[in-house]
Parts: sequence; C-alpha cells; structure tokens
Amino acid sequence: MIACGCEVCTSPDEKDKRLRSSILVKSRETTLVVDTTPDFRTQMLREQVKKLDAVIFTHPHKDHIAGLDDIRAFNYFQQSPVKVYANELTIQALKREFLYAFSDKKYPGLPEIDLHPIDQEPFMVGDLPVIPITVYHLRMPVLGFRFGKFTYITDANHIEPGEKKKIAGSDTLVINALRKEPHVSHYTLPEAVALAEELRIPRVYFTHISHQLGTHAAVSAELKNGMQLAYDGLTLHF
Ligand SMILES: [Zn+2]
Ligand SMILES: [Zn+2]
Ligand SMILES: [Zn+2]
Repeated sequence: MIACGCEVCTSPDEKDKRLRSSILVKSRETTLVVDTTPDFRTQMLREQVKKLDAVIFTHPHKDHIAGLDDIRAFNYFQQSPVKVYANELTIQALKREFLYAFSDKKYPGLPEIDLHPIDQEPFMVGDLPVIPITVYHLRMPVLGFRFGKFTYITDANHIEPGEKKKIAGSDTLVINALRKEPHVSHYTLPEAVALAEELRIPRVYFTHISHQLGTHAAVSAELKNGMQLAYDGLTLHF
C-alpha cells in the first residue's frame, strides 16, 4: 500500500509484493484474463504474454477494469480486436471510463474491443467453457467464473445457495480473503475458510489479500492442509 510502513509493505519476501488481483487462463487454443487491473501492463510484461484472445470482467470497480486501455498492444500485434465479456453493469462502467474507445469516431491507436454481454448463461471463449456464478460484494452483483474443475471468485462476501451449487464439485477454488477483521464487502479469512469447508473444496487459494492480513509466511503457517495464500505469479496446471 502506498505510503505504508507496515511489516507486510516493507517485507523483503517476494510473496508479500502483491499487485492487484487478476488471473490468466490458458488452454490449448485460448488465452484470456479475468479483469484488467491497474497493474495489467506490468503483469503482461512480467509473464511475457504474447497473445490475448479475451478479457472477462467480474465487476466495474476500478481495481478490476483500469488496465483495459493496455490491450492496445495485443490489438497491434494480433491485428484484431480483443473480445471483452462483461455484464450490463460493467459494460456501462467501461463505456463511461473508456469513452474514447466506444465513440463513433475511431482513430488509430484506440483500444479495439469486441464486446460480448454476458449474464447467467454459460458461454464459450474459443475452446474454453465458462460458467458465470453470481456472488455479492455487499449489494453489488459480481461475477465469479468456473472453468472445468477450477473456480475463481474475487470481491464477494455473500453467495446464494443456488450459486454455491455451481461451485461445489470444483477441485480448486480461488476465493477472496481480505483480512481477518470484518469488512463490509469482502470475505474475511475465517469466512473464506468456512465457505471452502462448507463446499468441501480440496484445494483452496486465497486472493485479493490486504496488507492487513499479515505476511505470506506468517499466515501460511496458520492455514490448514489444502488451503494456501495465492501469490503473484502462482501457476496451476490442470
Ligand atoms: Zn502496509
Ligand atoms: Zn470490488
Ligand atoms: Zn477489488
């Protein structure tokens, strides 16, 4: 966190250097990211991503959409628009925040977006089947996504029983856990642990971690088998 001198923010451990939350999902044919954070450019450069077919958005908060302009490099090298999948709430925000990209007057160098509205219905991105899961971030509906046996949920603190059923049966769940103390719109670590246990998920990673949670090493030592803190650059194979 900017201007913070706490133990986490000054830690020399690379796993305590946390950029904003996002994932890249790659299959044989398709590469997509879930959310374009303000750190999207840094993340794409770090991971040397050479191709991006699509962006799927969870919700319109700035820490999840701000990096969208930087898809321009992929437009340039791929000579095509990048597909963007978002619900109506997020589409409205994208059109506000990136007005120039949606204007009728196009000029060279604009981010080129091929917009696909999504809602509750499963959809395909190339060869990747995607199941949207509606979760709640206080009162805001946010989309989580299930890809086969892998489910990614960020920015939530409530999930209705019917949506929980869509998560059950996953063998890996990434779920937000902001800190230990209560928060108005994010799961705490104990709440996220309880949800994972309720759904009997064998492998769980916590993401969207605040510096207030503690260091990677200290919190990792407290976690039960099968539960881990996610960290920047973590790669999972399926
Ligand atoms: Zn701090
Ligand atoms: Zn949010
Ligand atoms: Zn967020």
